[in-house]
Amino acid sequence: MHDRGTWGGSSPRLAALFLAVVLPPAATLVWLGLQLVEQDRSLWAQRELEGRQAAAEAIVDSLNQSLAEAERHLSAADLPAGAVRFVVSPQGVEAHPPTRVLWLPTAPVMQAAEAAPFTEAENFEFQGGAARALALYEELGFSTNPAVRAGALVRVARVHRRERRWNDALTAYRRLAEISGIVIDDVPVDLLARRAMCAVLEESGNGEELNREAAALEADLLAGRWALDRPAWELVVGQLEHWTGRRMPFSKTRETLSAAGSWLWNNWQQSPGGRSLAVSRELIVVDDTPLILIRRRSDAEMVALVFLPSVFDAWIQKAVHATPVAREQLSILSHSGEVLLGPTPPFATAALTRSASDTGLPWTLVLSPGDSARQTQAFAARRRLLSSGLAAIIVLLAGGSYLLWRVVQRELAVARLQTDFVSTVSHEFRTPLTSLRHVTDLLEEDDELPRDQRSAFYQVLSRNTERLQRLVENLLDFARMQGGRKPYDLQPVDASALTAQVVEDFQVGGGYPAAAIDLDVQDGRLTVRADVESLTHAVWNLLDNAVKYSPEGTAIRVSVRRHSAGVAIAVQDTGIGIPRHERREIFRSFVRGDQVPKRGIKGTGLGLALVSHIVEAHGGTIELESEEGVGSIFRLVLPACV
Ligand code: ADP
Repeated sequence: MHDRGTWGGSSPRLAALFLAVVLPPAATLVWLGLQLVEQDRSLWAQRELEGRQAAAEAIVDSLNQSLAEAERHLSAADLPAGAVRFVVSPQGVEAHPPTRVLWLPTAPVMQAAEAAPFTEAENFEFQGGAARALALYEELGFSTNPAVRAGALVRVARVHRRERRWNDALTAYRRLAEISGIVIDDVPVDLLARRAMCAVLEESGNGEELNREAAALEADLLAGRWALDRPAWELVVGQLEHWTGRRMPFSKTRETLSAAGSWLWNNWQQSPGGRSLAVSRELIVVDDTPLILIRRRSDAEMVALVFLPSVFDAWIQKAVHATPVAREQLSILSHSGEVLLGPTPPFATAALTRSASDTGLPWTLVLSPGDSARQTQAFAARRRLLSSGLAAIIVLLAGGSYLLWRVVQRELAVARLQTDFVSTVSHEFRTPLTSLRHVTDLLEEDDELPRDQRSAFYQVLSRNTERLQRLVENLLDFARMQGGRKPYDLQPVDASALTAQVVEDFQVGGGYPAAAIDLDVQDGRLTVRADVESLTHAVWNLLDNAVKYSPEGTAIRVSVRRHSAGVAIAVQDTGIGIPRHERREIFRSFVRGDQVPKRGIKGTGLGLALVSHIVEAHGGTIELESEEGVGSIFRLVLPACV
């Protein structure tokens, strides 16, 4: 279009100017946004660290409290589940309660069964006088001294057993099993008797009784009836497993606690004289299991509490419970840095470490950052929000600038068109004026001109005067329209008659003598409310354009018909047509088609603006159908007058 053509040169400059205005603030915004995101991230990390520090303090306090509470059991009688109290002295090790261990590092010292009273009888026994020996043994079997009784009964049973008198042997063993506190070869006699009974039942082939007896022995053993050292324990377990034909059911924790007893005994033996009344808290690893050890040593003995990981776990659970950190974030490390509990902590800067020397706890406590996925998610959500806010501001900035750019461009275009307009109008005036001047000169020069030539000159004068008058009227109308001062006197008018009149006048005075106009009017009165002068002006402008933009001599068709919205006055030509993209803009003031000036067709760009203003004032509309190179139809649709 004409205005776009004019703009070809200045658009890039204007665009560059706008970019120069928009880009720096946009870049600043992006930079600020990134800074904000970064700051947010470090603030977040700082807050998370502070939260973890507070949590670490709370956890340390709680664990200290649990340990202090546990220390009370050094002297108290009761013991929580998962703990054993060992008393270590030069005499050996005792465990309380005994049911929580399987064996002890040392067997308790007990009275040994007597052997001396049996020397004589044993001589008989081994030199073929078994019956004589048995009688002597049986007699001593009723001794009130349990050490003698035990010695006698074991021998009675031995004789019967050798003679395969199973029942008698069993009876003797049963009596022996009732004696406690006496040992033979460091084995308590009652345990010895119970084992021997099983062996006799096995030898005699009494499977059913053996099962019962073995099960009873197993139950008593597991109930901690005998305090055995490890070899004795393993011996009995081996035998029992042979008799029962299955593995002995005992828990791993009892094994671990038994091993803890051995650890304590070794430790005591290595430094028996160490005297420290202070209570010490330690973390030891026995059987690959971390155990908490609380002990107090004196010259005479050492009292030690050993806690299983399950107890420790409960303490940690309690400590973590009141804090916002998750259990998985907490790791417990031994002095040597070995991870005893929880995950392997991440690299040093991210984890929060509280060493044993800081906390008074027997381990190093490490608090890792929380669930990074959850954190990242929360952080990503905030970042998304921030980024979308920034993006929205940038889009608004860009959109606003683009709109501003368009407005400025349009205003500049109008200004340019107005400048062009002055030269166009001057030109429009000059052509008829030159013609008038020329013809007037001819008339003046020659008085003797023939009559028909003189009349032709007068017609030229009249046509050009008419053209000038129309031009002036158009300009005045436009000025009035601009100022909103154009009055419209709407009266019922017969559209057919008015159109016919305009066509006739146009053919006579339109300045296009060769124009062939074909008028087609529908029958009947087609009345509209119109300002005669304005409507005439509008139709005239359409006719003027139709002729102007069509090859000379082609037919113009004017029709007046009923229309669904009233009455339609259409002017159709077979001219150059109007490109699709110009079909709206050409109704604006000063706008002319792109190709029009190139073709040398004169005009001001005001004609259609006037037509559009007039039609609007009449409450009507303009329809335009056009095809490039084929022609155009301009249709004024006015409301019918009823
Ligand atoms: P002017 O004719 O003085 O240029 P107008 O406002 O009457 O101004 O018309 C605006 C533009 O519309 C013209 O410059 C031309 O490009 C186009 N136009 C108007 N009428 C026709 C027509 N009948 N055929 C082709 N183009 C037309």
